[in-house]
Amino acid sequence: MDSFSVYEDKISFFHKNGKLHKIRTINHDHTIFVAGELGKILKKGDIVCLDGDLGAGKTVFISGIAKAAGIKGVIPSPTFTILIEHENAEIPFYHFDVYRLGNEEEFYDLGFDEYLYGKGICAVEWASRIPGVFPGNSIQVFMFREDYDNSEYRQILFYFPENDKRFELFTERIKNYDNPCK
Ligand code: ADP
Ligand code: MG
Repeated sequence: MDSFSVYEDKISFFHKNGKLHKIRTINHDHTIFVAGELGKILKKGDIVCLDGDLGAGKTVFISGIAKAAGIKGVIPSPTFTILIEHENAEIPFYHFDVYRLGNEEEFYDLGFDEYLYGKGICAVEWASRIPGVFPGNSIQVFMFREDYDNSEYRQILFYFPENDKRFELFTERIKNYDNPCK
């Protein structure tokens, strides 16, 4: 079965008419590189929503974004805290893992929507669990393993809103990347 089709109902919960870019990475460092190219074009107020199974590489991807956005030090997984705030860069970086949230109400009750409209960049693991909280200009990233257990290959799907200049900026940066997934 085409591996994309498994996720079809979750993919692009915002961007039905948006732009899609697909990339294949061959290992952890390649994912860091690709994520870094995205991180370099992000600005205050930008939101990256990530989905994909456990071990797909969401936390790795976010650490690549964070490093490129100037965050220093280790980027731990926020699984047990929901939110880790990194303030040691010009633009603050907010790393969410909303796996344990049951619904959108819980996100609002914790006051987390303030971060989405705040002064930083937000990256959110398991965002499709609470799709209603994210504004329509969020970037959506979907990751999955190609050969389930024994491969380091990952397919990474990027969805950008329609007519979003970040799509052009990002694809221009990675056009020479040597292993695109066509
Ligand atoms: P998630 O946050 O999606 O549960 P993690 O980022 O915590 O996943 O873990 C991904 C694991 O897969 C890491 O141990 C990482 O080293 C490994 N890995 C192997 N190949 C890749 C790849 N191409 N991209 C990202 N991670 C990879
Ligand atoms: Mg994770």
